[in-house]
Amino acid sequence: MRSLLLGLAAILLVLPAADAARSPVVVIDAGHDLRANSDTEPIGPGSSTRKIKDGGGTRGVASGLTEAELNLRVALRIRPLLEDAGVRVVMTRTRNAGSSMGNIARARIANRVDAGLFLRIHADGSPDPSARGSHTLYPALRRGWTDDVYAPSKRAAMIVQMELRRALGFPDRGLQERSDFTGFNWSDVPVILVEMGFMTNRTDDRLLATTEYQRRAARGLCRGTLRFLGRSAASC
Ligand SMILES: [Zn+2]
Repeated sequence: MRSLLLGLAAILLVLPAADAARSPVVVIDAGHDLRANSDTEPIGPGSSTRKIKDGGGTRGVASGLTEAELNLRVALRIRPLLEDAGVRVVMTRTRNAGSSMGNIARARIANRVDAGLFLRIHADGSPDPSARGSHTLYPALRRGWTDDVYAPSKRAAMIVQMELRRALGFPDRGLQERSDFTGFNWSDVPVILVEMGFMTNRTDDRLLATTEYQRRAARGLCRGTLRFLGRSAASC
């Protein structure tokens, strides 16, 4: 009887753990591509407001690196970190080649696999060369577009911003809600966009261009993603 009870207890302990261990999917979206895309697309389902698919991103004022290349380098470093933690990873792109696919296409990749998180990786640019630091954007609440993903996206943004800031040590520019991002409004899964730093700032740019800081960014984004998913971040 005692062994039977112990056996039952063991099964009850194992079942929820096995359920929680089902691999989530994370879609990593390295922002931009080799070329901009001046075609337009509606900013949300059914909207008559259209925006350009991709203005092309920014460029390192000191490094000369394109944002598209930096985003990709960090994205490619996150993938193995998440896979080591048992997370399935889908990349929106793995190369810098061709014109950017646009934001509806990126969101559809995340929707198709029912991603636990649609993680969009960018770096910022500003006319003010002193502007620097990390911030994280998430969708504003809009009924019919983002009401289903608003709360988890905001929670993901808080966690990932904290881990990214901790990993890079850049100034904390906090969180920002955006209603005008096509890739947010078309997303049916939790979605955030990180701006790792400013490539128009010499300090941020020089650091982000190094493999050490790309590794740090990947580690912080991995930790934030895993914590949002309720998993241990120890493997990052
Ligand atoms: Zn960008």
